[in-house]
Parts: sequence; C-alpha cells; structure tokens
Amino acid sequence: MLHLGPGVTLERALDLSPFTLPFDLLFPGRDIADLDGARDWLAPLHVDFAAQTILLDVQSHVLRIGDKVILIDTCVGEHKHRPRRADWHNRAATGYLDRLAALGLRAEDVDVVFCTHLHTDHVGWNTRLENGRWVPTFPRARYLVGEAELAHWLAEEARAPGEANHGCFADSVQPVLDAGLMETVADGADLCCGMALEATTLTVTPTPGHTPGHRALTLRRRDVTALLCGDAIHTPAQLYRPDWYSRFCSDGPLAVATRRALLQEATEHGHILVPGHLRGAMGMRVHPLEAPHGDVWKPEWL
Ligand SMILES: [Zn+2]
Repeated sequence: MLHLGPGVTLERALDLSPFTLPFDLLFPGRDIADLDGARDWLAPLHVDFAAQTILLDVQSHVLRIGDKVILIDTCVGEHKHRPRRADWHNRAATGYLDRLAALGLRAEDVDVVFCTHLHTDHVGWNTRLENGRWVPTFPRARYLVGEAELAHWLAEEARAPGEANHGCFADSVQPVLDAGLMETVADGADLCCGMALEATTLTVTPTPGHTPGHRALTLRRRDVTALLCGDAIHTPAQLYRPDWYSRFCSDGPLAVATRRALLQEATEHGHILVPGHLRGAMGMRVHPLEAPHGDVWKPEWL
C-alpha cells in the first residue's frame, strides 16, 4: 500500500502476473541490447534479457479517497473470447475478485471505475458473465472514460463490429453503456467533487498517443502529486528509452511526446508516477540519468 496523504491510499489487485510479451512484438525494430545500461534495475522483474521478453503485470489500481473507492482499469477478465492471445482466452477461476476482497472490497463497494483507455487488457472486468449475459461487475459504480477515447472506439466498432481490440467493445464496454453506467468525462474534470476531503483533487489529464483518447488521473493531496498514467509508460524500459513507442500505440510520436512531458514534469516537481502495468513497486519517482543517447531517466521505486 502506498499512502498518498491523510485519508488517501493506493493498492493494486493483480489479474495476470506476469503478462509476458516477446520484446520484438512490443518493440519491433528495436534492439534489446540498447537496454543494457539499465539492466541492473530492469532485470529480472521487467525485462528477461535471456528470453528476450518484457514482463508486465495486468492489474487494477485501487485508490481510496476518504470513504470513496476508485478502481483504475479492469484488466483482462474471465470467460472472454480472445482466441488471438492464449493467456487472455476463456480465462476462469483467476482469483481477481478474491484479491479485491483481500483488500476489503466487494464489487458493490466500488464507487468509480476509471478506464485510462479501452484496450482489451484494461476493460475485461468491466463485465462478468451471468446466465449467459454480460453484466457490469461493479453494479454501483460510475464507469468513466475520456470523451475522445469512447468516440474513437465507437467509430471503430461501427466500422468493423467485433473486430477491433480483440472484440472487447462488445463484451466489456457496450454492456456497461447499455446498463447506463458509463459516462464520458471532460479533461480537467475533478472526480473528487462530493468526496469531502479538503485540499484534494483527482483530475482527468490528457495523455494521448498510446490510444487517441488515453487519459491519466492526477491526484493532488496537500503537497503530494501522483499520476496514475496507464500505458503512457508501458514498461520501465521506456524510462531508459523514452523514444520507444510500442506496436500497440495508435500514434507513436505523440506517445513519445506525452511520455517525455510526463517524465520531465515528474522530475521537476517530484511527482509520483504510477504506470498501469508496473510490477513490484506501487509507483516511482524518476531522476534524470546521464547517458550518451539523450534524455534518460531511472526510477526510485515506491
Ligand atoms: Zn494499452
């Protein structure tokens, strides 16, 4: 657990750990040897140099502000038809809801589900299968997503129903829309309204590039600022190679610009960064590192 100030805590619930991606799949055309200078803090948790793989955790972050519970991203889920990726396909008995219970949370305790973006490994537990129908897993929650993100995937779904994004829109987004539980949030919106905790804001922050409407949440609690930044930093390897965008980014150069801005601002102001797939640590502060190939950072794990 990470304490972010009086009455504010951050925890995580794992769904899939590790999620292993071939280096060449995530970063086509790049050379894993170019991470050698960061081997001491990337291996073995984040990069397996021998196997040439990147290791991620697929997890939800649980942010408690006073008595409110905000769940950020909902992983892969169960019983989802994902034949193109074996470790996502038709999963069962994953223990995810038990891990939420171990944090003292029942599904009905979640007040807000925030989707940083609508990729398949971030929306799966939005829904669960009940009597052959997809129903919202968190029945009391408001599910929130950035306006541009929902608009993008609605258009993709209309263009090729059931094809984009492993088909996750139909089973993990549309049922929540149909239940009237999902709404879009504008940039800069403060999700803390009504939470009655002084000197605290939780604002929707544009972080585009990984997807067109990717959004982070910025928590400010007195003198602490933490950014729950989803896939804007996909792996800590991108601290050492911030110019490496992934195969899954919709606009690579924009994703790089977003990441550099996040890292520069976090350095300048001591912000805490919480990447969605971060393993081992809850978050990190970042520090500039001298290196021959330009702007480079290293983490201070939290
Ligand atoms: Zn993603």
